[in-house]
Amino acid sequence: MTGDPAGFAEDCAELGELWPQLAEALQKDTGATSGATAITASEPFNLDVMRAMVELSAQVPVTTAWAAERCGEPWRPRPVPTCLHNLPRFHERLLALQIATTAQAVEQDVRRWRRLAKLALRLIDPSWDLPSWVVCTAHEVPSTPLRHVGAERAIVWEVVQEEGKPKKKPSTVLMRDGYWLCEHCGQTWPTAQWELLVAAVKAS
Ligand SMILES: [Zn+2]
Repeated sequence: MTGDPAGFAEDCAELGELWPQLAEALQKDTGATSGATAITASEPFNLDVMRAMVELSAQVPVTTAWAAERCGEPWRPRPVPTCLHNLPRFHERLLALQIATTAQAVEQDVRRWRRLAKLALRLIDPSWDLPSWVVCTAHEVPSTPLRHVGAERAIVWEVVQEEGKPKKKPSTVLMRDGYWLCEHCGQTWPTAQWELLVAAVKAS
């Protein structure tokens, strides 16, 4: 949807919060605390996080420079957080200038990056592991295990005491709890029915 500057600014702000979390997740996974630690094949390495970082660091500055140019604003290459901070201003300007296609393209980019970052950080959980006997009740053949899709979490900041000092730490809250899906017939169930459904499957 084009023309929702507030929603667009929120997406940019959320992406701005996710960006440093990607770097943190990568560091945790590689265990790299200094340049002296080489990444070896035996070390756990989160490829999704790496991919998201590579894509964002390549695309965010390019899209921002393009939006600035279309607005007729001077701009030089800047780091991802600065780009994300300025994008809402360019977006508003594009809408005011009625350059809707560019505004729309920029919105799509931000939505894609946000989803990419959240997927990499496991904040969007496309598939919760369910017991294999949890199958679609709408048909017996084929017996189709259900998938849990559409759940999404957001990062929130909590102040915790660490070594006697208050420190901000990221934690997450559930934004959407998703639903259950049969990929064969398309039947869906609200997550709240999980227990009811399991009971029904058990009893059958
Ligand atoms: Zn089904």
